[in-house]
Amino acid sequence: MSKPFVYITRKISNDVVKDLEEYFTVEMWQEEEEVVPRDVLLNKAKQADAILSMLTDSIDEELLSQSNNLKVVANMAVGYDNIDVESAKRHQVTVTNTPDVLTDTTADLTFTLLMATARRLPEAVDYIKDDLWKSWSPYMLAGSDIHHKTLGIVGLGSIGQAVAKRATGFDMNVIYYNRSRKEEVESQLGIQYTSFDELLEQSDFVVCMTPLTTETEGLFNEETFNKMKNTAIFINSSRGGVVNEDDLYHALKQGDIKAAGLDVFQNEPIRADHPLLSLNEVVALPHIGSSSVETRTEMMKLAARNIKKVLNGEEPVTPV
Ligand code: NAP
Repeated sequence: MSKPFVYITRKISNDVVKDLEEYFTVEMWQEEEEVVPRDVLLNKAKQADAILSMLTDSIDEELLSQSNNLKVVANMAVGYDNIDVESAKRHQVTVTNTPDVLTDTTADLTFTLLMATARRLPEAVDYIKDDLWKSWSPYMLAGSDIHHKTLGIVGLGSIGQAVAKRATGFDMNVIYYNRSRKEEVESQLGIQYTSFDELLEQSDFVVCMTPLTTETEGLFNEETFNKMKNTAIFINSSRGGVVNEDDLYHALKQGDIKAAGLDVFQNEPIRADHPLLSLNEVVALPHIGSSSVETRTEMMKLAARNIKKVLNGEEPVTPV
């Protein structure tokens, strides 16, 4: 009997591939920086029992309806807005993601981005490199304080809670808004629940950590930016689709809010001529929230474990 066929949509660690090859026939898109072309993905999916996918692959009805052998799509991300989960259910394809293993790494990056934006680190780095430093001066590159300020977290899931934990170390006052209230976490971390509007009005920093869903799409728009303090700093390392980028650009340009730190964008990758990059008030990163060598390796291993479980007829470790 031939071995099940696993298709991996991006070049990943050799060790993880070797491990899968002990049980399965494995093929991999060999590029690290380039998304697998749609026609190649559709073609491989038709033969595959399992796909190890990235957030850049659209796993939609077209693909799922043609892939008769497919049993599992193991997404190497905690977010799964690239997958039509309802369609997968209809086609009896199990979908898995990689929660928890990336929580601390993504929270570290989110807090780094908050600090870099508040204290204008990229501008300060360029200032020296561009040879602009003439002398110490009282307000040279003066940013905003972080300690003792109010941090509002929208979406208090695993990463949101890990961000809150970091903030308590900076003596921040942490408030949150979430779909469901989490009273146990409130008392553990000493944080408070507010309505969404109260959070927008009270926060010095607003951090979004929700998934991208039909409910959260465009959640941050002209109306929400208008409700924020004009000294507020907006941080997004969830998904670009939660923000209306035109509205964010205008809010920054008009001084409705002070600055923004963004790890994610509506259409990635963005190019250097993206309007938001023309603003000094924006600190932009290329979607590197979970990108540490250790964590990305753990995410690959977890995706591979999910594939092994499902193809062995067992329950996956982290089903969606
Ligand atoms: P999680 O544990 O599932 O947390 C998501 C939280 O958002 C949950 O508490 C959920 O509420 C809440 N939520 C969902 N819909 C909401 C809504 N409409 N309004 C308010 N709150 C809502 O997920 P996580 O591991 O923390 O990850 C969160 C997201 O971060 C992922 O979905 C992904 O898109 C993004 N992410 C980005 C990177 C990066 O590289 N930048 C890395 C990892 C993750 P309930 O408690 O009621 O379910």
